[in-house]
Amino acid sequence: MEGIIVIVVLRPHSSREEIESVKEILHAHGLSAMESSVMDSSMLISEGTGTSELISIVENLPAVERVVVVPGVQRLTSRVFRPENTHVRVGALTGAVFGGPEFVVIAGPCAVENVTQMNAAVDTVVGSGAVMLRGGAFKPRTSPYSFQGLGLAGLTLLAEQRKRTGLPVVTEVVTPKDVEFVAEESDMLQIGTRNMQNFELLREAGASGRPVLLKRGMSATIEEWLLAAEYLLHVGNGDVVLCERGIRSYDRSTRFTLDLSAVAEAKRLTHLPVIVDPSHSTGQPHLVAPMSLAAAACGADGLIIDVHTDARNAMCDGAQALSGEQFADVMTRLTPVVEAVGRTMAPTRAHSLASV
Ligand code: PEP
Ligand code: MN
Repeated sequence: MEGIIVIVVLRPHSSREEIESVKEILHAHGLSAMESSVMDSSMLISEGTGTSELISIVENLPAVERVVVVPGVQRLTSRVFRPENTHVRVGALTGAVFGGPEFVVIAGPCAVENVTQMNAAVDTVVGSGAVMLRGGAFKPRTSPYSFQGLGLAGLTLLAEQRKRTGLPVVTEVVTPKDVEFVAEESDMLQIGTRNMQNFELLREAGASGRPVLLKRGMSATIEEWLLAAEYLLHVGNGDVVLCERGIRSYDRSTRFTLDLSAVAEAKRLTHLPVIVDPSHSTGQPHLVAPMSLAAAACGADGLIIDVHTDARNAMCDGAQALSGEQFADVMTRLTPVVEAVGRTMAPTRAHSLASV
């Protein structure tokens, strides 16, 4: 058993002395023992060269509930550690649950621009059955000359839509110092492709207590993506949803190359939910419908789709945004595919917009 990773799940209410004695035994055998607490369990995560004798000694210590030996580099995100699907609830009663039987569609504009734009986009996506809203207030743009987002004012406009509809909202956070107030004004923190390996940001987002939507780095391997998620779980946040959003390839006919095999592979390797962004990956509205259907068919737990009712004048990523009609068409066509793979479209739990 060379280079194994052992997760020692501790019994609840174990005393400090009992826990320390487990650590001492692990240390004496050359294994590290890092304390972590996630998904209602406390545990020691160790790495080193273990033996089956050591594992049986540890298994019999009073503080130990079970010992899991995880192959490969993943630990808390691994299906070996947790075989069943993790369900991630976002928002309260009117919220969405990722990773369960329901297929969750998040929709809204790439960037929050103004109240008129937000009202129009939100009315149309909610009318077609979106169960969660998106909108960027802090935009990590490739060029410093591009619209950088409205910042705090954008966050306020998004929070107004959250109140108006009762639906949860996801928005990107780009720097650790913003995590606290973005977490206050939203239901889920998005870590974008350009920040997937911003480890300080991951630690801070993980500690915020809010669910996190972790987009795959555009040049990240599946392993690097899962290890980025591992940072979030390691600091105690088990509410992580992964998002495949396309990777760099040589082909410039699409904005990125949507890697749907990564969805199926990530679902095999991890218990965390995985969703797909057909907008940022393809960069083209006519590819959003076919890729949405394919994502549902290959086992994705949901989608995040850019919608703008005046895409030609959008301040960010207008070229890839669906109109309200195009989004309605995707939603209609998704239903039979979602049902064919044994799931249901999550029903909208929005307040009646007419009453607002
Ligand atoms: C976004 O969803 O607004 C976004 C910027 O996506 P990505 O990080 O995948 O480019
Ligand atoms: Mn965008």
